[in-house]
Amino acid sequence: MSMKCGLLGERLGHSRSPEIHAKLGSYEYRLYEKTPAEVEDFLLHGDYDAINVTIPYKKVAFALCREVTPTAAELGNVNVVVKRLDGTLFGDNTDKAGFLKLVDGVGADVRGRKCVVLGTGGAAMTAAAALRGLGAARVVHISRTGEDNYSNLGRNSDAALLVNATPVGMFPNVDAQPVPLSAFPACEAVIDLIYNPSPTKLLEEAARRGIPNVGGMPMLEEQARLASLYMNANLYLYGAPGCGKSTFGRHLAGKKGMPFVDLDAEIERSAGRRIAEIFAQDGEAAFRAMEAAELRRVAAGRGQVVALGGGALLDADSRRLAEATGRVVFIECAEDVLLRRVAASQERPLLAGAAEGKMRALLAARREHYASFTERITVPEMHQ
Ligand code: NAP
Repeated sequence: MSMKCGLLGERLGHSRSPEIHAKLGSYEYRLYEKTPAEVEDFLLHGDYDAINVTIPYKKVAFALCREVTPTAAELGNVNVVVKRLDGTLFGDNTDKAGFLKLVDGVGADVRGRKCVVLGTGGAAMTAAAALRGLGAARVVHISRTGEDNYSNLGRNSDAALLVNATPVGMFPNVDAQPVPLSAFPACEAVIDLIYNPSPTKLLEEAARRGIPNVGGMPMLEEQARLASLYMNANLYLYGAPGCGKSTFGRHLAGKKGMPFVDLDAEIERSAGRRIAEIFAQDGEAAFRAMEAAELRRVAAGRGQVVALGGGALLDADSRRLAEATGRVVFIECAEDVLLRRVAASQERPLLAGAAEGKMRALLAARREHYASFTERITVPEMHQ
């Protein structure tokens, strides 16, 4: 067993996502076909850890997320939803980065240039936002019903980049072409978001005219690769000494069928000494260096539950590494509970002797640091 992942949509019969994700990680990836009446209940209460979301549910998923990335907030939709340990939803949009991969692939420099995007659906809006972000002077949508439409293409004959974000030309209607390229004599690059067939009729014409062009497959693959970072993620449990990271981590790993790693135990194994001995013999700085090195080794793995030491992410590089290779979940615990636990423990070198006073000082010094982690849970006492 591993993380439960998949794709949520209304009709998923021809989805390529399972085969792409099978190459990206060892997590389970299923297709979840839901009707509009079922989708909200599935997103809130369904048995999954992280899922891709496709049309027509990207906006409803966005509305149900407690927190989203800045890119998702800009676009107003999500194509990845992560169910956090406290049951709240976190959303991201990896389509925009996928589209940027196409712009890069076709070698288009859109700064200060006019771009034409065919269509006004979700993919068209994502492409337009990405092009504006790259500094395009103007992005014009051609719509069947808009001011700029298929009967007055000449108004935009000066466009440098053409993007097809309509389904015209998609399997099974492979002989259809949304526009003739003769209408865009200044066009320097063509992007077609359709990936089946490859190439489309539009891209065949671009190739005949010697215009650089690219189809939608690299976008599909890139958005999937970025989404897989959530699905293949390590779960790093972090929090003050005594909050129960190891006990809860073991419980969580057992429940999810994921491997469990206790970073302190790994350090002791590598060093062949107890942590108290490392502190006593080498000092805190040497311990932190060993801890950072051990984290680098552990972070190379995927899909693990990792219990971190209470100061493991004070180091900015270690924090960046943890956040890049997984999710950091902060375990909340009341101060009086922490004080009671550490007073009873003999194994905490930073708190040896006068544990209560030292613990209060440590918590005060780390208050801002601990408060800066956004995914937080309170775990029941029995699991701490
Ligand atoms: P969508 O929300 O259904 O939007 C499609 C847009 O295309 C509509 O807003 C419509 O704009 C226009 N359109 C629809 N039927 C048309 C027709 N018969 N003739 C002319 N225009 C038509 O779909 P979407 O999610 O944005 O996806 C659009 C395309 O991009 C699809 O082919 C999809 O497969 C592809 N896509 C690819 C990727 C990838 O990773 N490569 C990702 C997302 C989407 P108007 O009503 O304004 O004309």
